[in-house]
Amino acid sequence: MSDRLQQEKSRLLVSRHHKNEDTIIHIKQAVIGGSSHTLIVGPCSVESRAQLATVASALKKAGLTVLRGGAFKPRTSPYDFQGLGEEGLKIMKDVADEFGLITNSEIMSPTQIDTAARYIDIFQIGARNMQNFDLLKAVGQTKKPILLKRGLSATLKEFMLAAEYILNQGNDQVMLMERGIRTFEKMTRNTLDISAVPILKQETHLPVLVDVTHSTGRKDILLPCAKASLAAGADGIMVEVHPNPSAALSDSKQQLNIDEFQTFWKGLCNSDLYH
Ligand code: PEP
Ligand code: MN
Repeated sequence: MSDRLQQEKSRLLVSRHHKNEDTIIHIKQAVIGGSSHTLIVGPCSVESRAQLATVASALKKAGLTVLRGGAFKPRTSPYDFQGLGEEGLKIMKDVADEFGLITNSEIMSPTQIDTAARYIDIFQIGARNMQNFDLLKAVGQTKKPILLKRGLSATLKEFMLAAEYILNQGNDQVMLMERGIRTFEKMTRNTLDISAVPILKQETHLPVLVDVTHSTGRKDILLPCAKASLAAGADGIMVEVHPNPSAALSDSKQQLNIDEFQTFWKGLCNSDLYH
């Protein structure tokens, strides 16, 4: 590596050259990164209190703590369900408080930060906004943990530099999430880039998680993909779960129902890879 490149890398706040120890994120009773794994579970979109409470109850039963659910939804078509907005965030907080869980939800614009901060523990920046630099700067000025997803066609360098925008503003509570990239392959919704996991772990000190649902888009291979992610060094997994996937208002084909989730969770625990 040239001296200039080496120097450039060591200047990056996300880099292991800058900080060698793993960043560990503590949110209430949850610990993300370090020696423990985290499973983030919940529906693609928050649709109703009853829907979310059913998933929350399954999480609680499994001893899990982080509930996901979208309220501001980045949909490909403007005619598709756009999420419940603030009403969805209120439902999340209400359900999370009832079951003693912490919450993760996407924000798409700096104007949503103040509202979302009242209800949500982790701000998710979705794949489509990975290079929304104003949004990255704005969440960098908050004290909320940020879950940053890899862009649809982002290189790992671009992904790391997107995280750098957040750290550079003073917020070092950042998690990186591989969620599949666009390739020519059509058998999966995206291509899960397993190599991203050890590379990001090697290059950065941030927790690295894998969204097996959006990266594959199919329920039948979630368990092997989750196991592969953990074997590659991931600190956690995200999976979408809905009480009645066929009636879901978004991503109906890829969400697990409660029974399927329980089978998935058992499979992960029995693999000895999850701890
Ligand atoms: C999501 O997690 O709800 C989502 C929209 O995922 P992505 O940004 O990875 O497409
Ligand atoms: Mn989804």
